[in-house]
Amino acid sequence: MRFSRAYIPTSKETPNDAVLQSHILLIRGGYIQGVASGLYNLLPLGKKILDNIRDIVKDELDRAGCQEVDLAFVTPAELWEESGRIQKFGKELLRFHDRKENLFVLGPTHEEMMVNLVRDNITSYKQLPQNLYQIKTKFRDEARPRFGLMRGREFVMKDGYSFHESEEDMKREFSLMEETYKKIFSRLGLDFRVVEADSGAIGGTGSREFMVLADSGEDTLVVCKSCEYGANIETAKRQPKDAPEPVEMTFGKFLTPNMKAIDELSEFFHVDPYFFVKAVAKKAIFEDREEIVLFFVRGSDELEETKAVGTVGALELVDASQEELETAGLVAGFMGVLNLPQNIRTVYDLELKGSKNLITGANEVDYHYVGATLEELPEDTHFADLVVVKEGDLCSVCGGELHYKKGIEVGHIFQLGTAYSEKLKANFLDQNGKSQPMVMGTYGIGVSRLISAVVEQSHDDKGIILPKEIAPYRLNILVSNVKKSEELEFGEEIYSHFQSLGVPTILDDRKDRFGFKIKDAELIGFPYTLIIGKSLKDGEVEILHRARGEKESVSVDEVKTKLEELLK
Ligand code: ATP
Ligand code: MG
Repeated sequence: MRFSRAYIPTSKETPNDAVLQSHILLIRGGYIQGVASGLYNLLPLGKKILDNIRDIVKDELDRAGCQEVDLAFVTPAELWEESGRIQKFGKELLRFHDRKENLFVLGPTHEEMMVNLVRDNITSYKQLPQNLYQIKTKFRDEARPRFGLMRGREFVMKDGYSFHESEEDMKREFSLMEETYKKIFSRLGLDFRVVEADSGAIGGTGSREFMVLADSGEDTLVVCKSCEYGANIETAKRQPKDAPEPVEMTFGKFLTPNMKAIDELSEFFHVDPYFFVKAVAKKAIFEDREEIVLFFVRGSDELEETKAVGTVGALELVDASQEELETAGLVAGFMGVLNLPQNIRTVYDLELKGSKNLITGANEVDYHYVGATLEELPEDTHFADLVVVKEGDLCSVCGGELHYKKGIEVGHIFQLGTAYSEKLKANFLDQNGKSQPMVMGTYGIGVSRLISAVVEQSHDDKGIILPKEIAPYRLNILVSNVKKSEELEFGEEIYSHFQSLGVPTILDDRKDRFGFKIKDAELIGFPYTLIIGKSLKDGEVEILHRARGEKESVSVDEVKTKLEELLK
């Protein structure tokens, strides 16, 4: 491509609504153009980088035996009704009617469609396993689209689905996908971590996320300093915390007027927050009803809502109003484990199991109990891991210290089980002739988000720095002054040489000044720029290594060989 003919509208201006460097630089570098909230056009450079990422994803998946398909983007609402997700997805689903008043949904993910694809054709175990994927536009009417391609409403996802005759075979494929994803993200030159993730309301046992490490990431990861352990904070585990200096308490009810906060109470009683029971009341929203649930954690801990939602199997948890608490017989600020109203649903954090010498709300205005014990709770008391793991907590695997990192979720693999195949009746006959629902796995990659992730991880104050594997052009040939015919001729010669080798190359033959052109080169992030300037007459040219930020002088006789080596 000749730069003089290319549609690459670079700009010096920082776009108004952009805060993340990746968002700013992709717009300034002429890769993308905003259309409306969460909607972007990919310009020629953006399209090229997307295709390059796509090629790497496809190459590794095909090697692993996956097969690419291409499903309709417009999906019939009946399928979403069959699975029940028409409610679950809520407003993220964009729905519309066709001219015959049939309801359709723009695909936000394709589990239903993919099950529909196989259910009529696969009837026997002999046709299993299958792993089908597509790389395709998705639409989610996100509540807060932001950060450019990072969280768009329209975006490109690789979504894969595997079908198996047994749990065991699905797990084998899951491991294969984990390995395949690692290869993909390594080839993209990313610094990433594979972490344990929340399996969500759909259930399933195993779920892993692939996180690109970046300070701007929206996800918090808990990682161990000493071992490989890593998890999304939503699901992270720790070693149970040791008690501070033990205290002995005599049981009694104390007047604590207006004292609701743990800190205040801790000071009042001279007791560490560890020995308090914190009660968090939430309204759990289910498909067909609502219910107030009380979650109990230690005063020194916080409730992790994702864990909490999972323990009661609700769609979501929302704050309960004063009125709703009163109706349930609860007193805000004084809720606790003793003297609970009848029939209220409770979940206790696992680390509270068997504890004694606790201070807890009396479920009565202005009163707390001191010296409460949980040793005598009924057999069927619901205990679960409910707490937010904090920095400095200890790793449940090796005892090492845990700390936080920020990450961008670029992939998610999921052991789905039979939830969808049961609902959508995707059955097969097993080896004994018995009808069984297919066991599924599902595997996603945020292909367009990856463009942002790559840039977020790799840029400097001059612009984008791209690895050659995904750069739209690997080589930029910058002719300093196109009016000088020997400079332009040499540029043309190198250009046709690399064109003929099939290396994606661009020739900057624009009439602009050198300073302007080199700024563009750095902003766009070409991995290598060959600078043909004044020293050409002495038989010398320069190669700018974008990643290293260094220029290297090379003699004109050696420049082709040198570049060929770099561009391999
Ligand atoms: P997130 O928690 O970031 O909303 P998700 O859990 O909703 O992601 P999945 O349903 O697992 O995402 O989708 C698979 C992949 O698609 C994600 O790992 C992510 O990389 C990408 N993705 C999801 N939502 C968006 C979006 N709005 N814009 C761009 N990429 C997205
Ligand atoms: Mg989401």
